[in-house]
Amino acid sequence: METLEKLQILSGAARYDASCASSGSRRQDASCGTGNTSQGGICHSWSDDGRCISLLKILLSNDCIYDCAYCVNRATNPVPRASFSAREVVELTMEFYRRNYIEGLFLSSAVMQSPDHTMERMVGVAELLRTEERFGGYIHLKIIPGSSSALVRKAGLYADRISVNIELPSQESLRRLAPQKHKQAILEPMSLIGRQIQESMLERKASRHAPRFAPAGQSTQMIIGASPESDLQILRLSEGLYRKMHLKRVYYSAFVPVNADNRLPVLASPPLLREHRLYQADWLLRFYGFSAGEILSDDAPNLDETFDPKTSWALRHPEFFPVEINRADYGTLLRVPGIGVTSARRIVAARRFSVITPEGLKRIGVVMKRAKYFITCSGRPFEKTGRQPELLRSRLLIGDGAGESIPEPPPKQLSLPGLFA
Ligand code: SF4
Repeated sequence: METLEKLQILSGAARYDASCASSGSRRQDASCGTGNTSQGGICHSWSDDGRCISLLKILLSNDCIYDCAYCVNRATNPVPRASFSAREVVELTMEFYRRNYIEGLFLSSAVMQSPDHTMERMVGVAELLRTEERFGGYIHLKIIPGSSSALVRKAGLYADRISVNIELPSQESLRRLAPQKHKQAILEPMSLIGRQIQESMLERKASRHAPRFAPAGQSTQMIIGASPESDLQILRLSEGLYRKMHLKRVYYSAFVPVNADNRLPVLASPPLLREHRLYQADWLLRFYGFSAGEILSDDAPNLDETFDPKTSWALRHPEFFPVEINRADYGTLLRVPGIGVTSARRIVAARRFSVITPEGLKRIGVVMKRAKYFITCSGRPFEKTGRQPELLRSRLLIGDGAGESIPEPPPKQLSLPGLFA
């Protein structure tokens, strides 16, 4: 099979992995004359400093021995199969890098023969790129659960980011939908990676010549909506992963039905709004000091579709409000809908010099259309709805978009110019 034919199959097959990047989109009319779009090829990821980087996103192989119910590449699906050699991936990466199409590689794979066999070949790609080609670009390697600790360690020495996909939020769902996968085989490498990253950071503090281990951290991906777990279960799992395994990101991927399988739910469309709400709640876990148990409870275990999770929390906790802008500490300010990390910091900094006025709040970047219902400024309220929760809900719904319910469209995945014409 020609390399380009393989590339078409294996970049298309990689599009369901959201753990680094955008999901695919297709544009039929490529009348601009310089390339076209395809559902596979180049994706975007974001570096620690917020820079957007383009990655060649491919599978090493889609020839899988496993049979996960939700996966297009499962062993029993009659799809075209292809596998790259390590050398082919290296050549493609270097070629696209030299042409300025990409700044790095995102390499995942189906399980060929065994986890170790697959992982060895994936690590081989990274090793060749780093040692032979002296490639200094970004590399994200997927870890195959069940591969040896030695290979996981080696992967972390060559890759910037590594990730193990947790796939489903519980052992029971794994057993039902991905019977060859086991929670322990997924958590063990995650835990090892977490420890290695911490050790490497300490060693590099002592000596800047100490080797770096996955300097961009580890991430994972969870499929949302293929199994019956509640949002609370999902958020508790994410919370544990952030705290115990030091994950950088958990990616939530709305279940896209690609197989007819009676173990899977029948959905009219992928649950994109739920995915969106989970990302918002995840943000609260990571940057706003919320715990999963505060965002949701056993009595109400799923995220509100109408309001974002912070507004929803605020509506359930009228006793917390109003918050006085000129006195509240940083953590309290972060709980106010319409006040983000940047505006909370700015408020705390500005208060050192003068009393903050309503005009000052706007200049600072507070989203007043939401915040005004929850704050006072030098004792003066902006809106007197605090003691009438129903009125507050309807004002928020009608007036200002706090109840926005349309998820942002996924970023577009670009093609490799000219290749899939
Ligand atoms: S291991 Fe499961 S999810 Fe991964 S490629 Fe194979 S069938 Fe798909």
